[in-house]
Amino acid sequence: MPTGPIVIAGAGIIGTSIGYHLARRGAKVTILDAVQPGSGATGKSLGWINATFSKRPRAYFDLNYAGIAAWRRLHLELAGELNVQWGGSVAWFPPGPEAEELRVNVRNHQQWGYAAHVISETELHGLLPLVSPGEIAAACHSEHEGAVDPLEVLTILLEKAKGFGAAIRFPCQVTGIGLTRDRIQSIQTTDGSLEASVFVLACGVGSPALARMAGIEVPLKDSPGVLLHTAPAARLIHRVVLAPGTHFKQALDGRIVAGGLIVAGVGTAIAEASVEQAEEIRRLLGRFLPQVKDAPAERVTLGYRVMPRDEYPILGFAPACPNLYVAATHSGVTLAPLIGELASIEILDGVQVKMLEPYRPSRFA
Ligand SMILES: Cc1cc2nc3c(=O)[nH]c(=O)nc-3n(C[C@H](O)[C@H](O)[C@H](O)COP(=O)(O)OP(=O)(O)OC[C@H]3O[C@@H](n4cnc5c(N)ncnc54)[C@H](O)[C@@H]3O)c2cc1C
Repeated sequence: MPTGPIVIAGAGIIGTSIGYHLARRGAKVTILDAVQPGSGATGKSLGWINATFSKRPRAYFDLNYAGIAAWRRLHLELAGELNVQWGGSVAWFPPGPEAEELRVNVRNHQQWGYAAHVISETELHGLLPLVSPGEIAAACHSEHEGAVDPLEVLTILLEKAKGFGAAIRFPCQVTGIGLTRDRIQSIQTTDGSLEASVFVLACGVGSPALARMAGIEVPLKDSPGVLLHTAPAARLIHRVVLAPGTHFKQALDGRIVAGGLIVAGVGTAIAEASVEQAEEIRRLLGRFLPQVKDAPAERVTLGYRVMPRDEYPILGFAPACPNLYVAATHSGVTLAPLIGELASIEILDGVQVKMLEPYRPSRFA
């Protein structure tokens, strides 16, 4: 176990989960955030916990499936305090190539041991009685998935981490890194300098600039995403819905949260495209869930996914700076409890977890 303080930059769901797991094991942890906890991608996330069909190849599927299991563990550990809406997801497509692709994807994931199966139209109506799906050529239910309110989880984990002695400081932006040869000795912030025996970099889209100060590449690409939040409605759905063109859930407070992919034409600013996208999400939501057709949109958020250039997580100590631990990933809600568990093992026990081998920062060196 490192004897000195561990400084974590970034109080998104990843930095917070790592901080919680480290503090729980008795490490001396400080978590810093430039703005406030959850102000990055975490506060603009759907919060769907899944290992569905984009999670490939097999090793990445396994990581995400282990991520679901880690949520089950965390849910048990914080029984009565943490809300996870289990119930799986339901997806469908009208006739066309996507319907065929869905069947193939389900088959493939079943061969990997995933609890997903093709369902009939009658079964879909049973699972989503108030949804109007339109024509269905293929549908499936992925049973083990769930959803959380990422900000609620973040708040609980930060409180728990504090209870284990962690310090949380914000607004406190990391502005510089003090190196002696290849090792970090101190962290400069807008609130003074801090000694660090291990520095965990979990700043989301802010990570590449800080990593560069230590001579490390954390290459990310732009990946904006819009979510529309309705006013609270009576309970309409009990699982995540993946409809053609949009996906949505109903949070515990009754709000429907719906997203879609931003398609920005050449020369169109993302902010502009996101306004159009929000309108399109609203239109599709009204079509699939007519009960909220006229519900006012309370909020539209535009978030930037923490999307590594090759779309796979970047996790682990950087060989060129051996006390810098990088944690940058998409699907960060799904993976947060698992990454917290595994990063704390790597940091405190000095081992390399085999499951994380494909995701080392050194692949970009
Ligand atoms: C629209 C959208 C939908 C999504 N849906 C899902 C989903 O359904 N399921 C899923 O698993 N994932 C989803 N994701 C992805 C998931 O939300 C992210 O992978 C996850 O939130 C990343 O968390 P993070 O802690 O790494 O980063 P962030 O949440 O971005 O946190 C980084 C933090 O670092 C702070 N910071 C930045 N620079 C500095 C600095 N110099 N000093 C100190 N602090 C700094 C920021 O203020 C911020 O709070 C979605 C993302 C988006 C945008």
